[in-house]
Amino acid sequence: MSLLEMSSATDGMSQDAWGRLNLACREQQVILDNAGAGIAFMRSRCIVRCNQRFVEIYGFGSTLKAVGCSTESLYPDHAAFLALGEEAYPVMQSGKPFKTEVQMRRKDGRLFWTHLTGTLVSPGDPEGGSIWIIDDIDEQKHARAQLETVLAEQNLVLANCMVGIVYLQDRTVTRCNESFEQTFGYATGELKGKSSRAWYQNDTDWLAAGHACYEPLNRGLTFVGEMLLCKKDGTPIHCDVRAKAIDPLQPAAGSIWIAMDITARKQAEAALLSAQADLEKQVELRTRELAETVYALERKAAEHEKSESRIQHMAHFDALTSLPNRVLLADRCTHALRVAQRNQQHVALMFLDLDNFKTINDSLGHKVGDEVLVEFAARLKSVVRDQDTVARLGGDEFILLLPETDAAGAAMVADKLLRATAPFFTVLTHELAVTPSIGVALFPEDGSDLDALSRCADAAMYQAKEGGRNGYRFFTPELQARSDRKLLLGNALRRALEQGELELHYQPQMSLITGATVGVEALLRWTHPTLGSISPAEFIPVAESTGLILPIGEWVIRTAAAQLADWLAHGVEPITMAVNLSAVQFRNPDLPKLVRRIIEDYRLPPHLIELELTEGAAMTDPASAVAVMNELHGLGIRVSIDDFGTDYSSLSFLRRFQVYKLKIDQSFTRDITIDADDKAIVGAIISMAKSLGLQTIAEGVETPGQMEYLREQGCTEMQGYYYSHPLGADQFEAFVSRPAPLQ
Ligand code: C2E
Ligand code: CA
Ligand code: CA
Repeated sequence: MSLLEMSSATDGMSQDAWGRLNLACREQQVILDNAGAGIAFMRSRCIVRCNQRFVEIYGFGSTLKAVGCSTESLYPDHAAFLALGEEAYPVMQSGKPFKTEVQMRRKDGRLFWTHLTGTLVSPGDPEGGSIWIIDDIDEQKHARAQLETVLAEQNLVLANCMVGIVYLQDRTVTRCNESFEQTFGYATGELKGKSSRAWYQNDTDWLAAGHACYEPLNRGLTFVGEMLLCKKDGTPIHCDVRAKAIDPLQPAAGSIWIAMDITARKQAEAALLSAQADLEKQVELRTRELAETVYALERKAAEHEKSESRIQHMAHFDALTSLPNRVLLADRCTHALRVAQRNQQHVALMFLDLDNFKTINDSLGHKVGDEVLVEFAARLKSVVRDQDTVARLGGDEFILLLPETDAAGAAMVADKLLRATAPFFTVLTHELAVTPSIGVALFPEDGSDLDALSRCADAAMYQAKEGGRNGYRFFTPELQARSDRKLLLGNALRRALEQGELELHYQPQMSLITGATVGVEALLRWTHPTLGSISPAEFIPVAESTGLILPIGEWVIRTAAAQLADWLAHGVEPITMAVNLSAVQFRNPDLPKLVRRIIEDYRLPPHLIELELTEGAAMTDPASAVAVMNELHGLGIRVSIDDFGTDYSSLSFLRRFQVYKLKIDQSFTRDITIDADDKAIVGAIISMAKSLGLQTIAEGVETPGQMEYLREQGCTEMQGYYYSHPLGADQFEAFVSRPAPLQ
């Protein structure tokens, strides 16, 4: 109803009533125009009146355009229009306002949401029209729909999120997702309204977290950190925590926290760390073990190398003097000779031997002897050049190998050697004179290999010794012949025993007192099938140097003993059997045993066996010589000193060795009738022997004059061609059986 219609309907009203109505109508219009909602009065589903807001909502442009329009056009379609009518009128007719939210259509065709409230003007009369209040809630509706979508999405996220999310206000849970509850072991909904203290281990942690987290939150920053929290049952739980204030300007709006259980990761990390540490420890251990093993191996290798080189050294060097030994010498010699051959040069090989070393060693002991050798070696080395080799063969034997050295050079070196060894050797408290004898052989003249040269140098050295010692000799053709013969005899001698080429001759010994044959000396004879008869003076040294003297000597003692037993058995008056002993035999500790066995074998009275020994032989090793002498003496065997007067002798020696008889050397006997000196010497020997209670026998007596002199001097026995040459066994038997011719 328009105001015009109202004015016509109020015709006939009083002025006052009219005025009041008019005012009311104006007031109503103001209200309508200023109402926030659209208001329309409808009748028969047509717009009768409406306010400005209504016009705006539907887009009519003006109220005039709206009035009279069918309300159907306000609906999206005809069906909606009918549906609303069917729904609304029954409610309105019951006197209640009809309220609904429904979509309607604007003039431009756009649909929009409205909130409708419809009321019948007179509930009993639907034709009387209705009043509708329309709220345009399209925006609100959209916003709400959007909000709902957001919330739905949020809930979806919260519900399905794997991480725990909690909303806190004033550190109290307003909301949280299931994941958060599950993470911390709570039932659904259990945490709501609870303080966040619930998942801290203690108050201190909780307060500390409050300080640490809220400070960045209040500044609008995100807190990110790892925290050790705890579950409802107290189990510790490592969480990765992120938090942000919902609105930093309004702390009261709260904050959102995202917590992710990283315990497993932490444990894995810790396990990894410990595994890594373990691994590192293992590696370190292994490394150490390896290092130790390597060290041990290296040490082993070094030891091995050391012992190897020690073995090498031992194999090539003399232990005492550290000089090259025979093996190394052979090596160097081969090399030197090859070079000399190629370059047509000379090589000199020298043999050196200490003249009195045995005496030093025996009388002062091995320690002194060793020191002497060391010092001697040092002096040799000091004289020669670098390319020369000084080798020690053992004992007191040294060899010098001098490459590129001819006879003149060798002589020069030999002189130097003699000069170098001339000064006294001071060892411990002893001042010792040590002189060498030197033999020189030259390549290529004397030989083409070490063996040949050695033999030559050895022969030359032997010669030097014979020539008075402390000097040197070159090998000569004459020496060559001698050494050749030595070699020849050595080889032949080997077969002599088994071939029965050896024989004993017996030289009678006469008592100068009774003129009777009182003894006999067994003298060895060798008749070689082609070489003929060879003197013992020549072959005995060969036998000694080859060691053959031991079996030969044993054969001599046994044969002589057998012969004596035979003679005795044949009725020969008891006589002594004198057997010559070489130094080599005397050094053999088995000698007394051997002699005893032999005299036992032939049942001989021991005093009939006399062993002849030169002073030199006894002196090579006086200590053991005394022991052997004592043993022999104990057996009742007699010992005489052969060639007495030619060597060094002392009274104490004669006493210590319990000597029975002295054999005056034939060199003295020979000249006693013509040489006053020899006469005097022989006289002195005899009287000295007498004073010591020793027997004397003169050797080499060839003339009656000699015999007479000896008898005058009181010599007890004699032996020599004058009385008898050495005889064969049978001849001797005949000799002793005849009446004594010499008186
Ligand atoms: P020897 O022990 O001094 O022996 C004495 C040597 O003088 C013997 O020479 C003998 O034949 C010789 N002879 C004896 N009377 C006279 C004489 O009136 N005038 C001259 N000029 N000479 C006389 P033989 O038999 O040639 O022996 C030489 C050396 O050989 C011996 O010297 C001895 O040292 C050694 N010899 C001999 N037989 C043996 C033996 O069985 N064993 C050992 N180890 N050496 C022996
Ligand atoms: Ca003799
Ligand atoms: Ca003699």
